[in-house]
Amino acid sequence: MDTKIQIKDRFFTPYISREEIAAAVSRVAAKMNEELAGTNPLFLCVLNGAFVFAADLFREITVDAEISFIRMKSYDGMKSTGEVKELYGLQQDITGRTVVVVEDIVDTGFTIQQLIQKLNEHNPKEIKVATLLFKPESLKCDIKPDYVALEIPPAFIVGYGLDYDELGRNLKDIYVVAED
Ligand code: 5GP
Repeated sequence: MDTKIQIKDRFFTPYISREEIAAAVSRVAAKMNEELAGTNPLFLCVLNGAFVFAADLFREITVDAEISFIRMKSYDGMKSTGEVKELYGLQQDITGRTVVVVEDIVDTGFTIQQLIQKLNEHNPKEIKVATLLFKPESLKCDIKPDYVALEIPPAFIVGYGLDYDELGRNLKDIYVVAED
């Protein structure tokens, strides 16, 4: 694996290799194939960060399934409760369907919590959450992803779809920010 890399003003060191990622993605896909058989799930890939994970994951899915792409965008809400995110791009009718949200990372959990709320307004049968990375120690919401490829401690990471200021998404391995 490569050594230390620089993106803009920060240095990053190798953290999770492409081989480890592939093994974790296969593991989580096998569980999904078992549990989602016969549900014709609709995978909803949350752009931008989850596109690499979703592409690899979806090709490991062997049950009948569909995929589509959505986005959570922040806007300056007038509420005092902090950042509010809106849902964009949902084109399918998800009424009565099994929906699998595909995320890159669950950190505080606020993004996924808001997304679940928005999707529930459309009356799906059930919503499952699949995430490439999960930082359980950072979680501040009452949610639990159903499918987690890799659990990590709370540190900032890039690569395999995840960015630092929009760069680094194309890295094949996952890197962690280096201490100064
Ligand atoms: P949450 O709402 O769970 O705190 O954060 C979810 C979003 O924050 C992710 O979809 C991702 O865009 C961003 N995020 C959280 N942790 C990291 C990280 O370690 N690296 C990168 N690149 N983005 C992160």
